[in-house]
Amino acid sequence: MAAPRKLSMKQRYAALTHDLDWDFSYVDNAEAYPYTTFEGIKIHDWSKWEDPFRLTVDAYMKYQAEKDKRLYAVLDSFAQGQGHLSLADAKYLNAMKLFLQGVTPLEYQAHRNFSFLARHLNGPGPRFAALCQSQDELRHAQTEIHTLSNYNKFYGGFHSWHHQHDRVWYLSVPKSFFDDAVSAGPFEFMIAIGFSFEYLLTNLLFVPFMSGASFNGDLPTMTFGFSAQSDESRHMTFGLEAIKFLLEQDPDNVPIVQEWIDKWFWRGYRLLALVSQMLDYMLPRKVMSWKEAFELYFEQQMLGGLFKDLEYYGIRPPKHVQHAIDEKEILSHQVYWTLYQFSFAAAFNTTTPDSEHLQWLAEQYPDTFDTLYKPLWDKASRMVEGGGRHFARALPQLCQTCQIPMLFTEPGDPTTICQRHSIYEGERFDFCSDGCKWIFDREPEKYVQAWLPVHQIYMGNCGGPTVPDVLAWYGLQPGDNGEYAGSQEALDWAAWHTTSHAPAPTPVAGN
Ligand code: FE
Ligand code: ZN
Repeated sequence: MAAPRKLSMKQRYAALTHDLDWDFSYVDNAEAYPYTTFEGIKIHDWSKWEDPFRLTVDAYMKYQAEKDKRLYAVLDSFAQGQGHLSLADAKYLNAMKLFLQGVTPLEYQAHRNFSFLARHLNGPGPRFAALCQSQDELRHAQTEIHTLSNYNKFYGGFHSWHHQHDRVWYLSVPKSFFDDAVSAGPFEFMIAIGFSFEYLLTNLLFVPFMSGASFNGDLPTMTFGFSAQSDESRHMTFGLEAIKFLLEQDPDNVPIVQEWIDKWFWRGYRLLALVSQMLDYMLPRKVMSWKEAFELYFEQQMLGGLFKDLEYYGIRPPKHVQHAIDEKEILSHQVYWTLYQFSFAAAFNTTTPDSEHLQWLAEQYPDTFDTLYKPLWDKASRMVEGGGRHFARALPQLCQTCQIPMLFTEPGDPTTICQRHSIYEGERFDFCSDGCKWIFDREPEKYVQAWLPVHQIYMGNCGGPTVPDVLAWYGLQPGDNGEYAGSQEALDWAAWHTTSHAPAPTPVAGN
């Protein structure tokens, strides 16, 4: 027998992966892949979409298992050594509550839809890349749940995140964002999640959370972040590969892709409003301001880098990008001020910034903070001193598209609330911005179906007519919500840190 021919790495990879693909003899392609034509995208040659990772299932599993082993070793030793006591402050965990309630369920949704793509994309290269990403996303959901479950023993707000994701008002913002993506076609999903979310905006989401974790003593979350990072770089490559493939296959794809970029940039950017306040208000030890993060990760890297490259294909920067740039001075303050007033109905707590924090905010936002927002916090502090911590008890109007309360202001006028509306089939729908109105007007039949938490409360679908009814339906337990100062969490934290003979932390009842 002749000696086996030695294959190059590339040939070997091809032989083990996409060369195993076959053409159907008894069914035509349109029947086998029914979802890749209705969006109007024209593909002439699926083999041009190469899987850039050169991974086999075997290598993928080994590599992921190694990373899991390292992560779980850190989780174990952190739990055994009461590592949570060395966090910067218990307040820090509000950011992680928001992450677990808002982002982790999206990882699971991503897992589901990438496994759909792993079946329904025509080419073997993209199908395999989608399969790997599907597995990654499932692993992210699981490792995040395990990483943060340690805190559930000692702190509020971690016990019912999954239940809350489907019900609580501020969590309908991330939930409806992802529902919008998974109910779109496969190519729009790739542009929405693979490109806009994983490529364009991912650094604005993950870097702040993971650097926030490392700055604030949260070793498990930081380790999870490192463990996810190599997956993330594959996902970014996949997203970029997807957009270039679509643009190269047919010039008719360009205007369709452009509209998707316009839509999903604005959807993603509105979602990041939650991150902006996390950076500027929730983290006890600051990483960078929202404004700095936006300038670095979006304006410099994306507008100044990526979109220069995409110009070649006839793609221009997203339609409402200037509005986002203009908002960087005011966004986080408007969002946290709203959360501060409504945190009696949230599974995290809020508090007024102390003088050091106010000083930092003034330095980061010299043009807006002292004139526009410091007076609000001074007033809030005076009310607290007078014994009347202020909560807003009326329900806010929500934007029909992004589902965020109407808290954003007119472009160029930070003291007037921005409100847009459209009439569709005789009914009026309201929006927070030109971007959200534009998205609605493209597909009104989709957005009229939005499950708006405030409307649902008024319709009697959220447990009953009173605040306690709704909070019970949300699954909130005493200590989850409201003001941080004087909360059970703050009292426990102080007791655990005042004396070297402090009682060992005991798990929170009911968790
Ligand atoms: Fe993920
Ligand atoms: Zn909106």
